[in-house]
Amino acid sequence: MTHALAIDFDGTIADTNGRKVAWVRDNLGIEITVGQADATSCVPIIGRDEYTRMGQDVFSPEGTMVTEPTPGALDALRRLAEAHRLVLLSARGSDWLPAAEAWLVERGVRDLFADVRSSSGTTKAGVVESVGAHALVDDDTRHLVIPSDHPFLRYHFHPDEATPWRVDGDVVHVRGWTEFDDHLAGALPALT
Ligand SMILES: [Mg+2]
Repeated sequence: MTHALAIDFDGTIADTNGRKVAWVRDNLGIEITVGQADATSCVPIIGRDEYTRMGQDVFSPEGTMVTEPTPGALDALRRLAEAHRLVLLSARGSDWLPAAEAWLVERGVRDLFADVRSSSGTTKAGVVESVGAHALVDDDTRHLVIPSDHPFLRYHFHPDEATPWRVDGDVVHVRGWTEFDDHLAGALPALT
């Protein structure tokens, strides 16, 4: 059976968090880890204003295009697209989402996605439901804790985890694409 997978862009496909770590170090003199670079983790550390200032750089078209993929991301997308319907699901709004799509084109993986969607103005859980996705993988837990009547697998993409994948409530924490792939292969058949 083909399943639909909703996949986040920043910090999940693109190593935006690595760029944020460098920005925070270079501009604020603060050392954060990759796992502290998502908005939910980073704002309490550097403040909303600095996070916004960082975003103007990191999420800009110029900043986006020089961002590397997360390790194994492009191969994983090619592998997943053979069996599943992929939907890019980003919190970027209409200002910065086109840069993410251009990045996918540049990297030769845009055509692996059936759709590119923004959660701006709604929630990722809402978009997951509207596109009928069976799973969401995202580096920011705020998108993974939203209740939904539509059941879906919730994956936290979190390279900082000390241990291999683990389940915490509804959320499966994975350290990278290999662990995501492995867990998903076991979990999807159980879905109706
Ligand atoms: Mg993200």
